[in-house]
Amino acid sequence: MFELPNATIAYFSMEICLEQEIFTYSGGLGVLAGDTLRSAADLGVPMVGVTLLHRKGYFRQHLDANGQQSESPEEWRPDGRLEQAPARISVEIDGRTVQVRAWRYPVRGINGHVVPVYLLDTDLPENTEWDRTLTDYLYGGDNHYRLAQEIVLGMGGAAMLHALGYDDEMRYHINEGHAALLTLALLERQLAGRKHWDVNDGDIEAVRRQCVFTTHTPVPAGHDRFPESLVRPTLGNDYTELLRAAHCIGDDGALNMTYLALRFSRYVNGVAMRHREISQSMFPNYPVDSITNGVHAFTWTSEPFRELFDRRIPEWRYDNLYLRYAIDIPLDEIREAHAIAKRALLEEVARRTGVRLDPAVFTIGFARRATPYKRADLIFTDIARLRAIATAAGPLQIIFGGKAHPRDDGGKALIRHIFEAARALEPQIRVVYLENYEMDIAALLTAGVDLWLNNPMKPLEASGTSGMKAALNGVPSLSVLDGWWIEGHVEGATGWAIGSSDAAEPDPEGEVRDLYAKLEQVILPMFYQRHTEYATVMRHAIALNGSFFNTQRMLEQYVRNAYFPATAVMIEREEVAR
Ligand SMILES: *Cc1c(COP(=O)(O)O)cnc(C)c1O
Repeated sequence: MFELPNATIAYFSMEICLEQEIFTYSGGLGVLAGDTLRSAADLGVPMVGVTLLHRKGYFRQHLDANGQQSESPEEWRPDGRLEQAPARISVEIDGRTVQVRAWRYPVRGINGHVVPVYLLDTDLPENTEWDRTLTDYLYGGDNHYRLAQEIVLGMGGAAMLHALGYDDEMRYHINEGHAALLTLALLERQLAGRKHWDVNDGDIEAVRRQCVFTTHTPVPAGHDRFPESLVRPTLGNDYTELLRAAHCIGDDGALNMTYLALRFSRYVNGVAMRHREISQSMFPNYPVDSITNGVHAFTWTSEPFRELFDRRIPEWRYDNLYLRYAIDIPLDEIREAHAIAKRALLEEVARRTGVRLDPAVFTIGFARRATPYKRADLIFTDIARLRAIATAAGPLQIIFGGKAHPRDDGGKALIRHIFEAARALEPQIRVVYLENYEMDIAALLTAGVDLWLNNPMKPLEASGTSGMKAALNGVPSLSVLDGWWIEGHVEGATGWAIGSSDAAEPDPEGEVRDLYAKLEQVILPMFYQRHTEYATVMRHAIALNGSFFNTQRMLEQYVRNAYFPATAVMIEREEVAR
C-alpha cells in the first residue's frame, strides 16, 4: 500500500464480529469492527484488536407466532478454539483487584498477514462470582455492570497490550465511546507516578497524540453517561480525581464517555459526511472529520458473485477498486449470479420457516437492529395501498430480520407489528420474519433479495452498512437520503431515494408517499417489464458503490487521514518532488 511508520494501531471496540459462531457482536458496530480488522489483515496494516470475550454473547432471539421476542444466552466456549495469551493483568473495580486474561483470535489476511484480536476474560477462579461474569454479556446488566465492563475493556485492554509487549510506538483507535477509559490508563502511564494535581496540558497533549476516536451514532442511548456517584466507588477515588483534574466530569456531575474520548483524541471522525455534520453540531468544541464506512468486500460477496468477479476481474480480491470494472460485465452474467444467490436465500428461508417463497416474485429485504428510529414497519403504514400496488404493478414479497435489545420495548413492538401486518396481507403479499439475524443470514439476505429497503428517521442513521453489502451483490437500495446513501445514491442508476430532499429534516408523511410511489411507478414496472434496465441498475450498484463503500478504501483513509497524517503529507511531498 504505502510505507507505514513503525507503529502498531490498537483498535478498541466493545463488539467485534469475527465469525458466525463467535457471538461477540450485536449489530452494525461490531460488523464494522470485524470488517475493519479483516481489511487491516489484507492490507498488512500493523493492527491489533481488543474487545471482551462475551461468553454469553448478545442474546439468541426467539419469536413466537405473534412476533413476541424472548431471549436466551448465546453461549460459546473459547477453549480448544482460541489460544490463551501468555499474560495476565488486573484492574481495580469497586476496590477489588479483578484478574483478567485474554484469548487470541488471529484475523488472517489474503496474503497471510495476521491481525491478532485479544478477547479479555474475567472468568477466573481467583475472582468473585460477580467479577467472573463481567465479560459474559454484551450490552447486558445495569449501569454498574456496564461501567465495570468498560473498565475491563479500556484500562484492562491497555494493561494487557503493555503486558504482551506492545510498547513504544502505538496509536489507539477508540471505536465508539465504550472504550474511552483507555485514555485514563494512558494518562496514568504518562504521569509516571505523579499525582492528579500535577496533570498539565502537556500530559493531556501526550495522550492526545496517540488517540483517534470514531463516534458512531447521533442517538443519545449510544453515548454512555455514568453519574459520579457511581464512578467514584467503582473506579476509585484516585482515578475519579484524575478525571476531574482533566475536566472529564461535567458540570452535571457525570462522566460522559463520548466527551472523555473527544478530549483525549487528536483526531475525531463521524462515519459518513452527513454524520460528520450532525456530530459537529453535537460537539461544537471539537473538530470532527468524516470517513465513510465500508464493508469487507470478500466477506460480504456471495459465492456466485465471487465466482463471477474471479472470472472477469480477478484483481478484485486484493484490490477492491477493480470492482469499478464490473461496469463491463455482461448483464446476463450478473442476472445469473443473482438468480443463484436468490435461490440460496429462498432455500434457507424455507429451511428456517417452512415458508416457500416464489423465486419469480420481486423480493424486498429489510434487516437491521429492530429499534424505533429504523422504522421497520414503515412499508405497512397503509396496508390497502400496499395491496393495491401489488395488484397494479406486480407481485411482491418481503423478508425481514433483526433483533430488538431486550429492554427496547419500542423495538419489540415493531416486530409484533410486522407479524400483524404479515397476517393481514396473506395470501396476496407474503411476509416472513427471520429469527435471530446474525452474520450468516445477513450475508444470504443482502445478496439474495431484489431490492434492499432502508427507511430510518433522518438524521439518525449515522451510516448504515447493509446496503453496501447488497451493492456488492448487485442488489440496489431504496432508501431515505441519510447516512451513506446520500453519497451512494444516484437516482435510477445505483438505486432510488425515498423522498427527494437530502436535507437533514425528516418528512415522515412525504417519505411514505414516496416509498409507495417509487415502488408502484418506477421499481416494480422496471423489474417486471424492463429486465435490461433493472440489470443495468444492479451492475451500477456493484461498479459505483461496491468499488467504494468497502473497508479497504475506508482503512486506507484512516491510515492517511487519522493514524499517520504526517506520513500522508510526506508521501505527497515526495511525489511532487519526483
Ligand atoms: C451489516 C449488519 C448489520 C448492520 O446493518 P445496518 O444497515 O448498518 O443497520 C446488523 N446486523 C448484522 C448481523 C449485519 O450483518
